[in-house]
Amino acid sequence: MAVFSDLVDKVVFISGASKGIGLSIAEAFAAQGSKVIMNSRSIHQDHESVEKVKQAASENGFTTIPLALPADTSSPEAVKELYKTIKNHNDFGTVDIGINNAGISKDGLFIRQKEADWDETININLKGIRNCCQEQIKMMRKTGGSIINMSSVIGQHGNTGQSAYAASKAGVIALTMSLAEEYARSGIRLNSIAPGYINTEMTDNVNDEAKTAWEKLIPMGRIGNSEEVAQVALFLASNCSSYMTGQTIGVDGGWFRR
Ligand code: NAD
Repeated sequence: MAVFSDLVDKVVFISGASKGIGLSIAEAFAAQGSKVIMNSRSIHQDHESVEKVKQAASENGFTTIPLALPADTSSPEAVKELYKTIKNHNDFGTVDIGINNAGISKDGLFIRQKEADWDETININLKGIRNCCQEQIKMMRKTGGSIINMSSVIGQHGNTGQSAYAASKAGVIALTMSLAEEYARSGIRLNSIAPGYINTEMTDNVNDEAKTAWEKLIPMGRIGNSEEVAQVALFLASNCSSYMTGQTIGVDGGWFRR
């Protein structure tokens, strides 16, 4: 694993950190000595994930215990409360790095799509990121910071049966570019990550035949893993990317090339 010494003791907030990509990101930051705040709707009950992050820190000689804060990121009120808790917390008190990763996918052909599914997808995947960015930017305005928003390769080229998901993820890219320009002079960098096909629970329900078809489409010939996304998050959060803002970084085995 790469070492980013400037991440030691930095406070990093990760939404959707109970499993998949978010959990791998939380483990990766803990291994760098960052102070990790883990969020999902029920993270306070997810002792196993919190323990994994604690272990990643201790295996690398750090003693920081992650802070687990449940909240539905699609609710502005819940996110405001969450950030109040962080601000008032003796050991944390602020956020230096925001990783807005929580997301869902509810797939189906457009003409059969229920309005409720559209709304839920947009509310979690796009408005949830808006809610978190707003609180993070308020916190970082004087100190600067780095915000990484989770998009998807699907937000860059669309996909049959994923119109709501694609629209939400394209929205994440546009939101990130706008905020990057708006807050560059406050020392806040905002970038998006656009993963391709990554092995997590979200992609578990894809059958083997379809998986093989995807693998054929991916130039590197394989599905990615969540640790490979986490490494890019470390880079974007660290000073190694100090002159990068407003970018969308693909982590997709060469699938979508710009
Ligand atoms: P996952 O389903 O394994 O994990 C999603 C996480 O988000 C969980 O921790 C879940 O509890 C949390 N979450 C969902 N709704 C929430 C809410 N309202 N408030 C707070 N937390 C909430 O998914 P994953 O595959 O790890 O995906 C993580 C992110 O990466 C998502 O934004 C997803 O769209 C994106 N992504 C995934 C892939 C992939 O192939 N897995 C590809 C591209 C982009």
